[in-house]
Amino acid sequence: MSNPVAADRGGRTMQEPEQEGENRYAAEREALVRSIEAELAERSGAYGLEELDPRVANALRRVPRHQFMPASERRIAYVDHAQPIGFGQTISQPFVVAVMTDLLRLEPDHIVLEVGTGSGYQAAVLAELARHVYSVELIEELADSAREQLQALGYRNVDVKCGDGARGWAEHGPFDRIIVTAAAEGIPPALLNQLRPGGRLVIPVGRQYETQWLTLITKDEQGTMEEHRFSPVAFVPLRHRG
Ligand code: SAH
Repeated sequence: MSNPVAADRGGRTMQEPEQEGENRYAAEREALVRSIEAELAERSGAYGLEELDPRVANALRRVPRHQFMPASERRIAYVDHAQPIGFGQTISQPFVVAVMTDLLRLEPDHIVLEVGTGSGYQAAVLAELARHVYSVELIEELADSAREQLQALGYRNVDVKCGDGARGWAEHGPFDRIIVTAAAEGIPPALLNQLRPGGRLVIPVGRQYETQWLTLITKDEQGTMEEHRFSPVAFVPLRHRG
């Protein structure tokens, strides 16, 4: 039998710092949400948003961003910056995640396509607000680790596949909403085709190291599309396979 005193002490020393850590992360997350709200209120004109939708703010409060980051980066998980996640890729900046999610105007019955799963963080935020999220990632290792992490956190309404997201995910389309989290030089036609009438697509458009414009495409019930351009953003490029 194991020594009960040692086991007890071991249990406590394992649990307490972890709980303290989670409490600290929650406090940092709250501060981050407030700073995003304040920044957006200041720059509202730049995105056509008056203020951060409280539903989006609550989703940001619920998703543990630190769990989507490499252990070495976790202590800065709630600093409002993009951070490296390996393979030359990044987890998006929380402010940009907030703005892009808000521009989508998600409803609880929506089916969403995400192109560029990366860490899975943006997918989790979408999953808090929509019925189902289909997310496509080009790099197999990232697709696998994002899928695992989303499962471990209990997200049952997200599917991740490895593939070229510029082609969309036709079997599950058309989509109510589409979000691309890598910068495209042009809007991939497959994505426009897989967008449902009444749908919205949010995508950064521009070349790497040049100005990339955060862009919203709306498709009305007749299928007519309109393009709205907001402030510049900086994303890794949408790449093509092979
Ligand atoms: N949404 C992510 C941020 C992703 S960074 C997050 O919340 O962490 C952009 C991601 O797009 C990278 O992981 C990159 O590998 C991926 N990517 C680039 N080109 C792609 C393509 N054609 N199809 C799918 N994913 C692509």
